[in-house]
Amino acid sequence: MGRAAADFAADYYEALLAGHLPVMSQAQPGFLRRALPAAAPEQAESGEAVLQDVKALILPGLTHWQHPRFFAYFPCCASVPSILGGVLAAAMNVLGFQWAASPACTELEQVIVRGVSSLISLDWLAQLLGLPPSLCPAASPAAGAVLYGTASEALLAALLAAKARTLAGRQPEDALRLVVYATDQTHSCCRKACMVSGILHLRQLPTCAEQGYAMQPQALEAAVQADLAAGLLPCFVCATIGTTGCCAVDPVAELVPVAQRHSIWLHVDAAWAGAFAILPEQRQAHFQGLEGADSYDVNPHKALLCGWECSAAYFQDIQWVRRALTVPPADSPYLVNDACGSGRMSLQLVEAAPGEVADGPAAPTAGTFGASSGECAGSCFASIAADTGSGTDCFSGEPASTPPKGSPAAAASCPASGPTNQQPVERQDVDIVFGHGGFRGLRLWMVLRMYGGDGLRCLMQHRLRMQRFLADMLAADERFEVVVPPRFGLVCFCLRGSRNQDNAALLEAVNSSGTAFLSHTLLSGRYVIRCALGGTLTQGCHVEAAWRTVQRCAGALRAAQVGGHRV
Ligand code: PLP
Repeated sequence: MGRAAADFAADYYEALLAGHLPVMSQAQPGFLRRALPAAAPEQAESGEAVLQDVKALILPGLTHWQHPRFFAYFPCCASVPSILGGVLAAAMNVLGFQWAASPACTELEQVIVRGVSSLISLDWLAQLLGLPPSLCPAASPAAGAVLYGTASEALLAALLAAKARTLAGRQPEDALRLVVYATDQTHSCCRKACMVSGILHLRQLPTCAEQGYAMQPQALEAAVQADLAAGLLPCFVCATIGTTGCCAVDPVAELVPVAQRHSIWLHVDAAWAGAFAILPEQRQAHFQGLEGADSYDVNPHKALLCGWECSAAYFQDIQWVRRALTVPPADSPYLVNDACGSGRMSLQLVEAAPGEVADGPAAPTAGTFGASSGECAGSCFASIAADTGSGTDCFSGEPASTPPKGSPAAAASCPASGPTNQQPVERQDVDIVFGHGGFRGLRLWMVLRMYGGDGLRCLMQHRLRMQRFLADMLAADERFEVVVPPRFGLVCFCLRGSRNQDNAALLEAVNSSGTAFLSHTLLSGRYVIRCALGGTLTQGCHVEAAWRTVQRCAGALRAAQVGGHRV
């Protein structure tokens, strides 16, 4: 059966390359419901029968993200190493929430235990991308990295860490005054993170074509000043390198002084574009100022061929993430173990407070936040210890002596700069969910090994060549306008002098042709077609085919308009 599944996957990719499958599904809503029985079978069916149905029913209902003529959104790229890594990971099916749960899994992905910083895949990636030492666990004692599933999770974790840092030593109700800054081009996951984390104030600073749709430092400063004057608490800036709509680049180096002046956490989201930093000239042109960022995220599942889901987040001071996301060990005595420092310390804490364990942990009291809602989890630990009159501070390993909550001294017990990574950072302490699976680090590790830095650099150059090709074709055809400078493999264009509905009609015609799948965005109210060049299988011939389709559809549209038909 394993062989049949492998053959199936190989046949699938051959069909994609040979153009035997349309890139977009032509299915109508409810098609699968009608084709499948209403209940699961009582008798086991053969794997062959199931694979037959996958071929006959599932494949026609897919939009094929790995199709070489998939140019929509940002591609989410798989590759032979990532598929292999995924198959192995699925077979092993380990969970790596802590070192003891699966040592090789955590050492490949995420663990800082007993002075050993072992994030092999993430350290390798940081080197390849030329990240500054301040963000590299291998170079900076306070830094840490986490392989999350998605950029949205990474942003949420960064926001929770920022919230913990801003609220340290403040009152719980101050959380209502926190403000997040982004632009009207920032990915919607920023708003989602605000919703999830209970942030009430999100400033989406307006951008414009003249400024390349980038965040303006002066506008940020003015917004911060206005919020301070209104009694609010600036907390978090989300800058983007390579915005989703048009690959705008927020000027990180110029935003850093603003963020630092006001002690605001600066997160840099480079979900798609971050992979291009593997090219030194791209790094030089677009990735300046990262040494001043508090957190940085890139999605290897997008341009770096690792397959969904795989998002590498780097933090200048990982302890703030840990403070935001660590639950008291008394909640999970079953996880206490002696394999790492946190286990040992937790055990002492649990032993010191048997009543707490039996009845569940102490609820966060006034002056402390639950770990997920803001103030550092350290306070939660300390409050348990203080309530029982004994215990150990979870960060320092020192006996806890807890000042009254909310007092300035309580703030001082949360060091402004977290402890170094000499202290344990287990996966479970920095994750939003508890039991992450999928052994993502294996996929990343296999991609890095089987492509190598050179192979990945070639791939990025290839994407930039395809981008230049399409941009040149568009520039040479007077019917079209390239709307923003093409960047990171993304070309945004529209029909010159056209109405929004003309461009929407053009996109609809191209996509329904089955030849290519492109997407759109709105820039300054204009409907713009996006062509993202970066699929693993995409070659020049596929871009040419898409371009010919765009030309043909534009011609047909023009002819229909001249002929008096409304589109
Ligand atoms: N940030 C940017 C700039 C993106 O383009 C995207 C998705 O395309 C995201 C965040 C969300 O990524 P994810 O799906 O990994 O959460």
